[in-house]
Amino acid sequence: MVTTRLYTPGHNLVTDTLIMHGIVRYLLWAGVSKGVVRRIGDRFVIDIEEEISKDKERKAINQLITIQRAGVKTIEYDKPTTKFFEKIYRANINEPVFWNWVRSIVDSITKFDTILIYQDPDHKIKANEGRRRSRTGATVYLPLGPLYGKYEYADYNVKEGVQYTMCSSCFLMANLGLVYGSYVLRTQKGDKIYSIILNLIPSQEASIVDIALIQRAFEIQYKEERDIEVPILAVPLIALSYGETLYGFEGMDAIVWINERSGNFQRVPYFTTFNVDKVYKVISVIKIEVPDWPRIIEDYLLTEDGLHILAYITETILGEGVKEHIYTLTRLLEAYVRANKKDIPNISRGLGGKIIDIVDSLARSA
Ligand SMILES: [Zn+2]
Repeated sequence: MVTTRLYTPGHNLVTDTLIMHGIVRYLLWAGVSKGVVRRIGDRFVIDIEEEISKDKERKAINQLITIQRAGVKTIEYDKPTTKFFEKIYRANINEPVFWNWVRSIVDSITKFDTILIYQDPDHKIKANEGRRRSRTGATVYLPLGPLYGKYEYADYNVKEGVQYTMCSSCFLMANLGLVYGSYVLRTQKGDKIYSIILNLIPSQEASIVDIALIQRAFEIQYKEERDIEVPILAVPLIALSYGETLYGFEGMDAIVWINERSGNFQRVPYFTTFNVDKVYKVISVIKIEVPDWPRIIEDYLLTEDGLHILAYITETILGEGVKEHIYTLTRLLEAYVRANKKDIPNISRGLGGKIIDIVDSLARSA
């Protein structure tokens, strides 16, 4: 029986995804795990089948206080002192704002009272959140949601004084979602800095326990690479290749977006969302057949050629091609990796051409 229903505020799909993951994390800290997360358009409803008492919330708030202490130290020592703040540091593409960002987290924990504010479906309106001239709330830094206009391919070039702000609780939950519920890959090429973020959300609904399992794969971790540009469709294959395989994991969508900074200009050049079930199934098979798969990605495929191969594989999987022949593909992948090991400097190029040939022929025969 549902005793508490929480709603994400309805900022946009990206920010609400982060807030949903943040709320789930908070609930887990409070010892609350019975319930389901449902997606309603760009928002989420969390139906909880147990009481959220003040006592339970106190446990979660104690976790927040630990984060707050680390935030104070981070400011004091002038560098991230825990993995929590390190991950935010890497997700951020605009270094000078980092310190205000940390201060806002510290501040939002002081102000935080109860998660039950999200029982109100009109929370966003009542808390006066959105694009406002008079700024009262916390700034929505770019990795917390591409909030300028329509987010697909939108340039983030906000006019003075009309920044999008949200209340300190939404800001805090979005940050928890970024750290515990997101895969973050930071990279750079030339004078451009990128932070690429992937989240998994239920296509329709998932249990709180399922969301917790997703978080276990992504929490705290981030990845940093240099001198490569990452095609957006390579990201799901990288992100889902690490961590343990979750069997029977279905009904999930991926949201992937790229935050880009070039000089003083920040934008979100790419944003995509798609059902990830097929990709996940293929990766599960690859990981059984090729136990070294995460290391193969790490050692051979995190090059521009390698990443294009990964993107190409994702595209083919999404286009129905590889599904029936995935065992053949994985065995061939394994054989080629083994055969090409001596040839390390050229491995991605040599291997890449062959993998693309395989994927092509499988797609044709499917
Ligand atoms: Zn709010």
